[in-house]
Amino acid sequence: MIELSHGFHIGNQEAKEITLRNREGMIVKLLNYGAAILEILVPDKDGQCENIVLTHEYMEDYIKNPSYFGVTVGRTSGRIAQGMFTLDGERYFLEKNFGIHHGHGGRRGFSHRLWDYFIEEEGGSSRVIFQYESRDMEEGYPGNLKGEVTYTLMAKNELLIEYGAISDKNTLCNLTNHSYFNLSGDNKRKITDQILCIRSKSFLELDENLIPTGKSIPVQNTPMDFREPKKIGEVIACTHEQLKRAGGYDHPWLLEDRENQIEMIDRNSGRKLSISTTYPSVVIYSYNFPNQERLKSGRRGSKFDGICFETQYEPDGIHHRSFHSAVLNPGKAYYEKTLLKFSIV
Ligand code: BGC
Repeated sequence: MIELSHGFHIGNQEAKEITLRNREGMIVKLLNYGAAILEILVPDKDGQCENIVLTHEYMEDYIKNPSYFGVTVGRTSGRIAQGMFTLDGERYFLEKNFGIHHGHGGRRGFSHRLWDYFIEEEGGSSRVIFQYESRDMEEGYPGNLKGEVTYTLMAKNELLIEYGAISDKNTLCNLTNHSYFNLSGDNKRKITDQILCIRSKSFLELDENLIPTGKSIPVQNTPMDFREPKKIGEVIACTHEQLKRAGGYDHPWLLEDRENQIEMIDRNSGRKLSISTTYPSVVIYSYNFPNQERLKSGRRGSKFDGICFETQYEPDGIHHRSFHSAVLNPGKAYYEKTLLKFSIV
């Protein structure tokens, strides 16, 4: 079931809230500004449906949205060192919006734009297709690029996110979603008492500006080792240079398997989230630098209130041969997907 309602006006255009429901009672609320996830309501062990992502109290707060709540990040997720890269012998200069570096696709990127949308219902599932056309040299990137994000709410409590793009020139593309998860429901408790499992043997080292150095480090004997499920709070406060640098987790993990690479459990509510992705890595960001967001739950956003699982190619790959390439060639269709499965333990 799909419903549309007014979000807010932006210039003479209208941002729309789009609500998807399935028969199990799961609800997903989307916004065409930033092709964003506003809310995901899933049942707890007693059947009570609550929101398990961080949501701004006022919809207009998605216009600024400095922490990128729920949005689609593009053209490239994460940082690009010095806001500069060379492709086909040509040097490109990007907006330096993350200090001296480029971040999350620039000042407006894909996250601070109005997307077109199309809705489809079939069988027990409902789907929204968001499309955005980014012009040649927008935010400094070459090529006219058509980006597409499709959210499908399945009959079972699963949300599929599919990313597509085509470009008329060689360019960079690395799309992700920036939802902050908190399985307690309406962020009643912090993520530090939730349990995390990451099927990954190594993570990427970051320099003092949170740019990957190119070195991958085995997780063994580090607070990044989540091969066995662990309470986040048991390790996040460890004294480890990499954690100190980022004020918590803000690191890319290299994923091993093809399914259920990331799992999170909240014992209190009984909710479990399992994430499967076709991307080779995930940047996990534990909301280390909140911007005092006014949340729909009535509180102000504070450190460790949520955690992002930004499935993507390793950030800044254009500067590292050993990373998966985010170069998109004309004539090639970009396609990656991430599946969020919700269950009860
Ligand atoms: C980045 C963080 C940044 C946050 C909000 C994350 O994806 O890795 O460093 O502070 O987004 O912009």
